Amino acid sequence: MINFQFVRTSVIKTALSLVGATPKAAFIAGGTNLVDLMKRGVTAPEKLIDINALPLKKIELINNVLHIGALTSNSALADNAIVAAKFPLLMLALQAGASAQLRNVATVGGNMMQRTRCGYFYDTTMPCNKREPGSGCGAIGGYNRMHAIFGTSEFCIAVHPSDMCVALVALDAKVVMASAKGERKINFIDFHRLAGTTPEKDNNLAKGELIVRLEIPVNNLNKNFHYLKVRDRSSYAFALVSVAAALEIKDNVITSARLAMGGVAHKPWRLMEAENFLKGKPATTGTFEEAAKIAMNGAKGYGENDFKLKMAPNSIIEALTLAKAKA
Ligand code: SF4
Repeated sequence: MINFQFVRTSVIKTALSLVGATPKAAFIAGGTNLVDLMKRGVTAPEKLIDINALPLKKIELINNVLHIGALTSNSALADNAIVAAKFPLLMLALQAGASAQLRNVATVGGNMMQRTRCGYFYDTTMPCNKREPGSGCGAIGGYNRMHAIFGTSEFCIAVHPSDMCVALVALDAKVVMASAKGERKINFIDFHRLAGTTPEKDNNLAKGELIVRLEIPVNNLNKNFHYLKVRDRSSYAFALVSVAAALEIKDNVITSARLAMGGVAHKPWRLMEAENFLKGKPATTGTFEEAAKIAMNGAKGYGENDFKLKMAPNSIIEALTLAKAKA
């Protein structure tokens, strides 16, 4: 363990100036991932800024857009009546994540910022380009059962571990970030990054920025939806493969579709080509099988994770089937 400063503030402006004043400062809220990273020597911030007292815990519907404060706990969001009624796909994804105890302290912003669970990343005796750029990737040619099949690079094949983020990318959420210069808003799909040549960067949050809220526009995807998570045990396990599926169906014809996967890429993986294919098609098993084939374009296994090449399309078909059956 290293020595570090610990400060606490209830003022957003103060938090932003504190993080800007120290090169190796970090915000801490629930700490459910950051503390593990510090204990294992993966990261060593000089200053921790406790932001739990910032006024960022509101969940409110404003002009048909759900605003979610970044410090809302995962359990508070999952238990919210508006989320249950209008965004049940998000509710299911949240309930599938971690354990009840972790969901009680983990925040929405922290969930987005959590780092991969690749074992090499957490083992400081092993090569890992994400932890130490240029050191190599232990998982390529090594233990890679949990790793990516989409959007990989020769530098990193890690996956983003969140369930919540898979639903958020499917629901066209937006991320609002604050800095000393003011606020900026980006599409959720552009928040996380592919590894490319810079796997050390998980997302596009700039130094000195703080996630302040999410915004999700109200939609008609609250009738036929499903979040399917395939994992090694039924609780407290990361996804081997997960699928967020939502359909609008009229007279058995799909009028709108949302599809995204987790456990398969360095970022929540939206399946837009498959979504476009589904639109206007009959809601049948044959349609779902074709969509799954399209979704798998470009997938590549790395040995131990080759089983995902079968598990992923089967999971898409299952999630769409269960989404359709909900009505
Ligand atoms: Fe590191 Fe990424 Fe390779 Fe894992 S997959 S060892 S996180 S570079």
